[in-house]
Amino acid sequence: MTPIRLYNTKTRRKEDFVPLDPANVRMYVCGPTVYDRAHLGNARSAVVFDTLFRLLREVYGPDHVTFVRNVTDVDDKINARAAATGRAIRDITDETLGWYHEDMEALGTLRPTQEPRATEWIGEMKEMIADLIAKDHAYEAEGHVLFAVDSYADYGALSGRSIDDMVAGARVEVAPYKRNPMDFVLWKPSDVDQPGWDSPWGRGRPGWHIECSAMSYALLGQSFDIHGGGNDLMFPHHENEIAQSACAHPEGGFATYWMHNEMLQVDGKKMSKSLGNFFTVRELLEQGIPGEVIRMVILGTHYGKPMDWTDKKRGDSAATLRGWFAALHAHGFGPSMVALLKDCGDWEQDPEFLGVLANDINTPGAIARLHVLAKGHTAPALAPLAAGLELLGLVHDWADLPRLAGVGAGPEVAEAVRVAVDALLVARAAARAERNWAEADRIRDVLTLAGVQVTDVGGQAQWQPGPEFDPSKLEGAI
Ligand code: AMP
Ligand code: ZN
Repeated sequence: MTPIRLYNTKTRRKEDFVPLDPANVRMYVCGPTVYDRAHLGNARSAVVFDTLFRLLREVYGPDHVTFVRNVTDVDDKINARAAATGRAIRDITDETLGWYHEDMEALGTLRPTQEPRATEWIGEMKEMIADLIAKDHAYEAEGHVLFAVDSYADYGALSGRSIDDMVAGARVEVAPYKRNPMDFVLWKPSDVDQPGWDSPWGRGRPGWHIECSAMSYALLGQSFDIHGGGNDLMFPHHENEIAQSACAHPEGGFATYWMHNEMLQVDGKKMSKSLGNFFTVRELLEQGIPGEVIRMVILGTHYGKPMDWTDKKRGDSAATLRGWFAALHAHGFGPSMVALLKDCGDWEQDPEFLGVLANDINTPGAIARLHVLAKGHTAPALAPLAAGLELLGLVHDWADLPRLAGVGAGPEVAEAVRVAVDALLVARAAARAERNWAEADRIRDVLTLAGVQVTDVGGQAQWQPGPEFDPSKLEGAI
């Protein structure tokens, strides 16, 4: 089994990854707040953890990995959007989640095993809040329930800050009912026009942090393997998640490995909705930039380093991918060949490629290795390139290969023409079998004249329309 190493934010070290249960490797990642289209920064986080998910599935088996990514569908930004547009909250969140799925799918991400929506887990959140109050880690004040940071000695350990530093450095909301300015909200009251649920503390709604603690506990248990998200969430969100979970379930370990992707930036600043310096994934797709190219640009930088989107990176990634896909296409790769390779057990990852990727998701290193593998001159020699591209999520349907290779952009081929060319190829094979070389050559010349490109793959002829394709030249050839 390929050993995986991951940089653990909690210990600030790269560590060997040892799952609690190799038969069920468990990962939780903080997902989108659904009130608007995902921007490229959100996409970076989704692609990074999708790549880790794919690696875990490769190493432990697809049925042995559980990946939970939450959907925050109760949030003041959503309420504000509803108030501004007059639309129902559920309409907005359903629509936005649909967009998120579409856009992330275009980037080749797999659906997580579960995508809990916060509004469907309010009962579990209330239970955890009541438990925290019972254990003296939380208190009720003026319709709010607050977590008492002084009740948890390790508060701040993840981000390495003391409570005093935080108070000095953070723009905390100072409220008279807070015992410590760093105390954070678990439950807050709702006005009549805000979404709310009945609770022992009055009609209200949960604070943001409690949803991840409650839903990860419900779906993954009190101890699981990996917790991920962007490093903008380390403080306060992840710090607060840890405090809640550790105090509610002191016997559990919560997450063993904490992973944080660095930010996608614009001119040195984090891309974010609030700064207004963002562009959406949809905008890039609508400019005609294929999802595979966007994903390749993202994978071109290690997740632990800040990165910018540049036009040069887009151009270079597009050219590299087109070259690789064209080589695979020319060597007969497609759905049937890949299925055949998989059936015969000839679909294996290059050990060096896998080793580099497993070393803290070193995607630029893995891509460098693909450049070497792409030098193969035969279909079997290129199989590890194809397998690597599939593992990195850069191709999901091998029927797409002509489009990806840029050869599908040619003329549409009518069904009757397709049948005619297939028939000519059968006739050519029959002529060859009968050693009727004259007839075989005649058919070859007809096909060449009509601009049909034929490649022989394992004795099997495959064809595609070339740039000079002219089906009228096939007439009367049979
Ligand atoms: P949000 O919808 O803003 O709550 O974010 C969803 C996910 O995207 C979280 O894991 C964030 O940490 C991540 N994220 C937000 N902005 C960026 C960015 N500029 N670069 C990378 N990840 C980001
Ligand atoms: Zn979270």
